[in-house]
Amino acid sequence: KLYNQVQDLKGSIRVYCRVRPFLPGQVNTLSSVDHFEEGTITINTMAKNGKGRKSFNFNKVFGPSATQEEVFSDTQPLIRSVLDGYNVCIFAYGQTGSGKTFTMTGPKDITHFSQGVNYRALSDLFLLAEQRKDTFCYDVSVQMIEIYNEQVRDLLVTDGLSKRYPTYNLISQTGLSVPDANLVHVSSTFDVIDLMNIGQKNRVVGATALNDRSSRSHSCLTVHVQGKDLTSGNVLRGCMHLVDLAGSERVDKSEVTGDRLKEAQHINRSLSALGDVISSLAQKNSHVPYRNSKLTQLLQDSLGGQAKTLMFVHISPEPDAIGETISTLKFAERVA
Ligand code: ADP
Ligand code: MG
Repeated sequence: KLYNQVQDLKGSIRVYCRVRPFLPGQVNTLSSVDHFEEGTITINTMAKNGKGRKSFNFNKVFGPSATQEEVFSDTQPLIRSVLDGYNVCIFAYGQTGSGKTFTMTGPKDITHFSQGVNYRALSDLFLLAEQRKDTFCYDVSVQMIEIYNEQVRDLLVTDGLSKRYPTYNLISQTGLSVPDANLVHVSSTFDVIDLMNIGQKNRVVGATALNDRSSRSHSCLTVHVQGKDLTSGNVLRGCMHLVDLAGSERVDKSEVTGDRLKEAQHINRSLSALGDVISSLAQKNSHVPYRNSKLTQLLQDSLGGQAKTLMFVHISPEPDAIGETISTLKFAERVA
């Protein structure tokens, strides 16, 4: 029995690596990815002159031709567990331009086929809830926040929002430790898409020309699910955090100053705090350093314990990116 519990715990952190394809206009470039199969990726560490290889192992590796649907199909079981009352965290990690937003949300001109994990997860959630409607009554609400320089900003604050959707403050309602941000009740995938668009617009408002906020901040869509067992009256609570992390690229201290340096330091610190938490959970350490960043504080209830974590690490295929690619893979190997 204990053995099974340990196995379950071990299985609660998964790491998937995804390699972005070359973008239009880059077709003749040689990839820094030598080859990949199932859970192993081999990169050419001296991508430009062809020597030196290094392999990394993950739960799964998705190559440049993997579709959004294929990537999501391995994520699907987690959605079911949210409805069963578990907490789930899904992260997108990688340098700016490596495909984090593509995986979580999709490309700029989004179509049904290019929808990312967020949309697919929510539509699955509503589909499964519908299938269980004779035995469970589910209630779904979402929050959307941004963490910038260790400050949390509520992305669902907009004039007139509360006229369209009931909003309330979850902390006062349930005593759960969740972001102190509007919680918006939703009843369909359509509602969620509407809210994600609002959140996205609010994010852009916070950005200035010099500061592409979306790559300098973490954004988090949190879905709270409450399910009432219609026979026993018992209530299950699960939640899912879908996190598009700030770009992991290291900024050269000699080249930036002021606000840009401060941003970079906050990002470095919070990403390494996240890495520390996940790796100490993976190693089953008794002390897990949640307090070292806003992000890990906010997600504390959903990292470790019975919670399930999935990290997508993203790789850019360009030889120029090899330095960042190696540090991304090393980060990911540490948490895997
Ligand atoms: P990030 O969020 O990590 O900064 P993006 O998701 O914005 O990166 O991706 C950078 C560019 O690459 C975008 O134009 C995006 O549409 C494209 N892209 C990323 N991943 C893929 C993919 N798997 N297939 C096709 N295009 C992709
Ligand atoms: Mg992005």
